[in-house]
Amino acid sequence: MELNLLVLCYLIGSVTFIVGLKMLSNPASARNGNLVAAVGMFVAILGTIFLYEENGQKLGNYTWIFAALFIGSVAGTLMAKRVQMTAMPEMVSLFNGMGGACAALISVIEFRHLVHTSDAASLDQTSLLIIMLGLIIGSVSFAGSVIAWGKLNGSIKDFAFKGQHIINIILLLLTLFIAAHIVINLPIELELYFYAAVVLALVYGIFFVLPIGGADMPVVISLLNSFTGVAAACGGFLYDNKVMLTGGILVGAAGTLLTILMCKAMNRSLQNVLIGSFGGGATTGGSAQTGGTYKEVTLSDAAVVMSYANKVMIVPGYGLAVAQAQHVCHELEKTLEAKGVEVKYAIHPVAGRMPGHMNVLLAEADVSYEKLLEMEQANEEFKNTDVVLILGANDVVNPAAKSDPSSPIYGMPILEVEEAKHVIVNKRSMKPGYAGIENQLFFQPKTSMLFGDAKKALQDLLAEVRNL
Ligand code: NDP
Repeated sequence: MELNLLVLCYLIGSVTFIVGLKMLSNPASARNGNLVAAVGMFVAILGTIFLYEENGQKLGNYTWIFAALFIGSVAGTLMAKRVQMTAMPEMVSLFNGMGGACAALISVIEFRHLVHTSDAASLDQTSLLIIMLGLIIGSVSFAGSVIAWGKLNGSIKDFAFKGQHIINIILLLLTLFIAAHIVINLPIELELYFYAAVVLALVYGIFFVLPIGGADMPVVISLLNSFTGVAAACGGFLYDNKVMLTGGILVGAAGTLLTILMCKAMNRSLQNVLIGSFGGGATTGGSAQTGGTYKEVTLSDAAVVMSYANKVMIVPGYGLAVAQAQHVCHELEKTLEAKGVEVKYAIHPVAGRMPGHMNVLLAEADVSYEKLLEMEQANEEFKNTDVVLILGANDVVNPAAKSDPSSPIYGMPILEVEEAKHVIVNKRSMKPGYAGIENQLFFQPKTSMLFGDAKKALQDLLAEVRNL
């Protein structure tokens, strides 16, 4: 009876994960989707703690389990409550790393369990294979995510040395070789090899993410996400735990699809990502052209040109999130629309610092989802647009991606804002964006700069537009 109840808990967990994931695909239902999946996870965890039995024995160790649950829940809640919206990508990366670490630790524990409860002749090689897979993928995900976390918050700089790609490949091959040796030959020094594989996988995770810079981090972040899912699925396979397996497979599959989408968005191949060979080394000052003259626009001129336009396209970027100016941006949109101006948003897939960042940001301000245009759609509409208002975006509108083969973002599809009649760029200075390169768009005759923090600039612009 109890076993059936446990199966039911796992079924509820698995179904809620799938329903929750589906709901996440629409900003209107995303928040509830997250809740639905969290409830399913809660049911599955409680089911495991109280109903799981092995050889007629319950889990026990309740003090340890609840102490860990309490500490983890308090730490997670406090972190999530305190985090600034702009620091969300870093936190997501760190949490992803924790998932990888958990999967790797499961492998460590199960490896010890396996070797200490069986002799060489009866060692289950299939379990050993799954343990090694979970260990390697989880460790790479953990180490890589911690480096990604540091890079996103600026505490770790891109780092590459000559021949690093070769070292990366050697490290990966060596790790895989040791894992294969453990599984196939069951060497006497089993534990020594096992811990060597742990260290090598961790070092590979660090080396794999360290050199990746420029505008290529989004691909790596989604790839690490899929790694964590696959590593968790290995745990599910090992314990024959259906809900863990389902959850892991869903995260792994979603992460893989996102990686493919991000590769497409960045025009990069997955093979390059896997050996960590792009973006590194040329992350600053890749553009051959420097300087030029730019012109500024006054608030009142910007207000006039926008108020009398037929169509305005807003390009949100990381700076909009930093300034937390999404609400006032929505106000400006509504005010312009009341004046008969058509307003839309052009969303670049890697704008901001995490996949979907701009969608989340604008959904928070209740911007209608129908107003958001994907890059291809927006690029078709720019030629019929009177004014493009760029709010804290830089790399995603940098024409060097099309025209400068020496640029680290060369080849990345961008929002082709130059097709519009006027381009107004709001940012605080002439400083570069994440990729660290100058943007020739700012020096073009069509472009006018509106300097200032996005929130303040938008508040002032809104006041001017309302006064017209
Ligand atoms: P960028 O990082 O290229 O540019 C953001 C610009 O915002 C900066 O130039 C900055 O200029 C400006 N800014 C910062 N604060 C403010 C503020 N308070 N008010 C107004 N402007 C401000 O952002 P994009 O969104 O154009 O591009 C995203 C970049 O991040 C890409 O290179 C992408 O590859 C990378 N990335 C994306 C990830 C993702 O998953 N989406 C993950 C990791 C990296 P100034 O200082 O002069 O104000």
